[in-house]
Amino acid sequence: MKFSPEKLNIPDQRMKPFIDPSEIWDLINNTKPDKAAVRDVIAKSLDKQRLTLRETAILINSVGTDLADEIKEGAKTLKEKVYGNRIVLFAPLYVGNRCINNCKYCGFRASNTGAVRKTLSDQEIIMEVEALEDNGQKRLILVYGEHPDYSPEYIAHTVKLVYSIKKGPGEIRRVNINAAPLDIEGFRTVGAAGIGTYQIFQETYHPEAYTWYHLGGKKRDYEYRLTALDRAQEAGIDDVGIGALFGLYDWRFEVLGLVRHTNHLEACYNVGPHTISFPRIKDAMSLNLDNKYETTDDDFKKLVAILRLAVPYTGLILTAREAPDVRREVMQYGVSQIDGGTKLELGSYSDTKNENQNLNREQFKINDSRSLADVIDELLDNDYIPSFCTSCYRMGRTGEHFMEFSVPGFIKRFCTPNAILTLSEYICDYGRGETIDKGWKVIEKNIAKLEPGVASQTREKIERIKAGERDLYF
Ligand code: SAM
Ligand code: SF4
Repeated sequence: MKFSPEKLNIPDQRMKPFIDPSEIWDLINNTKPDKAAVRDVIAKSLDKQRLTLRETAILINSVGTDLADEIKEGAKTLKEKVYGNRIVLFAPLYVGNRCINNCKYCGFRASNTGAVRKTLSDQEIIMEVEALEDNGQKRLILVYGEHPDYSPEYIAHTVKLVYSIKKGPGEIRRVNINAAPLDIEGFRTVGAAGIGTYQIFQETYHPEAYTWYHLGGKKRDYEYRLTALDRAQEAGIDDVGIGALFGLYDWRFEVLGLVRHTNHLEACYNVGPHTISFPRIKDAMSLNLDNKYETTDDDFKKLVAILRLAVPYTGLILTAREAPDVRREVMQYGVSQIDGGTKLELGSYSDTKNENQNLNREQFKINDSRSLADVIDELLDNDYIPSFCTSCYRMGRTGEHFMEFSVPGFIKRFCTPNAILTLSEYICDYGRGETIDKGWKVIEKNIAKLEPGVASQTREKIERIKAGERDLYF
């Protein structure tokens, strides 16, 4: 449904900045939690309603009290009740690290003259994608610095190129983007290439802190970045991802900033963000930041649980910036997507001889460098279904997170069987050693929980996969 503020008789807030720091600080400073209020807020979320800023502030201010455990338990229950045990897997592919900006926290910043600059050639993109396909990847996020070389036309070209690369049984079925904000025309160009999600992180929602970290280049303009996903929506991209870089400013402010951004997109476009990301700053080349706003592991775990409860319908993305033990715990609080087999050095997926290692072409250091196979192995050990599903997006069922969340039976009818089918493909094409056995056991266990009709259709499709058919879904 197209948004028409005049019909609703409300002010048109599209493309308008929507963060009021004093409102957010007032909520942080003056919202008092008590047991009953916290329990009411958790119950509202478990009833599948998005929380208001004030309700989110109640949760935030309970951190440090014995209510924090109830918040984590609430997030776990929500995940189990609504989303079940699927975890979608993806990998980032860094296309180019040229950059005109000077973000103090990033190894790609223009002033970092020690960074070796590189943009993958088409041939190198092909080699990288083939190597990713050889590992079993089906979903990528392409990442770019901000530079005139990375025009909307160039980004669109790389997206189409990636979709066209097919090695053996391998293919990339969903290409997401993390790149600089564009104007409406630019978003249209990239959207027309068939992208999945366009992801842009605000880094910090606090305007003064933002100015302090962004020393030059186009990214210095806080409002242009804040309204970027409005322009994406205006250009017809309704699948957008938001995020904040935790460690730049007070984590409580950023959580409320993310919820405010969600409210804004919902109010203006009838659709909230598809995903929320919550990266923490990691060490990067010549990084020289103090740790005044360091988000501790403990606060990090709580903030993920709070985000899960605050926006119960959104996908939550947890990346290899975090170490395996942190990922293992945080995943329980409602994460829906993780990366596996991640490499950030440009050109390193296809670099079997390690010739590209330590060439100072990576944006920051990751803490989980396990292979995709190892990540999948651990997911299976912990009773998750690793999924490469891309069905909704290709069936035109956009807003799938919202459907999963709001349409009764949707997960059991579509998501779980599709996760099972993509896992079956992975086992047949890329499974090694014990993973094969473990994988089929997890599949059997989860088929047993489906409705009999769906279970038999799923079994029938698995037999077709074993016989060589690919890309079967509901
Ligand atoms: N250049 C584009 C931009 O800045 O939006 C897109 C790509 S940028 C390479 C992707 C994200 O990496 C940034 O939005 C930022 O949140 C994150 N990032 C930058 N430096 C980081 C660091 N030292 N540790 C963790 N994440 C970082
Ligand atoms: Fe460039 Fe993005 Fe890094 Fe900023 S975060 S320096 S814009 S690559």
